[in-house]
Amino acid sequence: ASIFGAIAMAPRDPILGITEAFNADTNPAKINLGVGVYYDDNGKVPLLECVRKAEAMLMEQPAPRTYLPIEGLGTYDKAVQELVFGADSPVIQEKRAITVQALGGTGALKIGADFLKRFSPGSSVYISDPSWENHRALFESAGFTVKNYAYYDPATHGVNFEGMLADLRNMPEGAIVVLHACCHNPTGADLSAEQWGEVIAAVQQNGLIPFLDMAYQGFGSGIAEDGAVVRRFVEAGGPLLVSNSFSKSFSLYGERVGALSVVLSSAEEAARVLSQLKRVVRTNYSNPPVHGGKVVATVLSTPELRQLWEDELAGMRVRIKEMREQLVTKLAEKAPRRDFGFVRQQVGMFSYSGLTKEQVGKLREESIYAVDTGRICVAAMNSKNIDRVVDAIAKVL
Ligand code: PMP
Repeated sequence: ASIFGAIAMAPRDPILGITEAFNADTNPAKINLGVGVYYDDNGKVPLLECVRKAEAMLMEQPAPRTYLPIEGLGTYDKAVQELVFGADSPVIQEKRAITVQALGGTGALKIGADFLKRFSPGSSVYISDPSWENHRALFESAGFTVKNYAYYDPATHGVNFEGMLADLRNMPEGAIVVLHACCHNPTGADLSAEQWGEVIAAVQQNGLIPFLDMAYQGFGSGIAEDGAVVRRFVEAGGPLLVSNSFSKSFSLYGERVGALSVVLSSAEEAARVLSQLKRVVRTNYSNPPVHGGKVVATVLSTPELRQLWEDELAGMRVRIKEMREQLVTKLAEKAPRRDFGFVRQQVGMFSYSGLTKEQVGKLREESIYAVDTGRICVAAMNSKNIDRVVDAIAKVL
């Protein structure tokens, strides 16, 4: 018999499963709040104007598709560093930061995980409870034992900060701690600036290895504001890994544009680490694709396109906030006995709505799809569908 004959069916991806059920639904008024994608007010994934213009510029001078360097396009990596660390960052001047173009945020996490497994094989990895559903699988598949640290408190709809800090303080030296830099997925609950200070101190005191996952820079309070936590880790000193993604902020999901950056203590150490990261890339996919990286590099380094991007990103951020506001106000009218005010405090694309699995199941009977955990994508709501969402939630409560 073939060695494949006994292979068991892998479990379905819970979120992609929702999309499958949604696609099969014939109700024209169906709404998918289970997605992890930004939709505009017409319910469409936007093609940003800055991207369209950058592509037009690139098409004027079509270039042959040679291989990129293993670490990716130089202009892209440089632009990423300036965005993630700030253009005036000492780690850029001192050449202590290295950046490798990656296949989206996922690819950046995977290169980082493989690299860490080679050089810190005995470390455990800690992720927030709950976290983006791929974090655990990704680090486990790199060979790590993955544990949780306390994060979400359903009672307050915010962060269980005492619990989180206690867990950080109990982690052994050298443990890898994955932190969401902003716009926590799936809860929408972020740390305050003050709480970040305590987290950074605990990471330092215990000699932990921080791995910041920044998939939503610009969706919280602004590009610089959301990136502030990265700069605070840099100021505190010590090694730091940062994965970032342009899937959301450039609406370039399918182009797979992200990067892994690592901050080291000297230029010489950085050169050695880069050489090893390149080995990880080389043995995985050799080098990254050209198009998405070129588009992002062109936008970030062309002043008028850069301004356009910042404006378009602000537009997405503001629309999400507006949807939060409307959801809270409309639910206060339709379901006055339950306080949804916490949705206003949440940040980014998602909200842990507090809806139970049963309530999510009843929503589905109304052709409204959400994740069983109660996670809804605020960016999937718009001026045309929000009333239906509100009425349905009021009905299932
Ligand atoms: N990290 C987090 C927290 C995310 O939410 C996502 C995307 N949903 C990613 C990483 C991966 O991003 P990408 O789609 O660019 O691979």
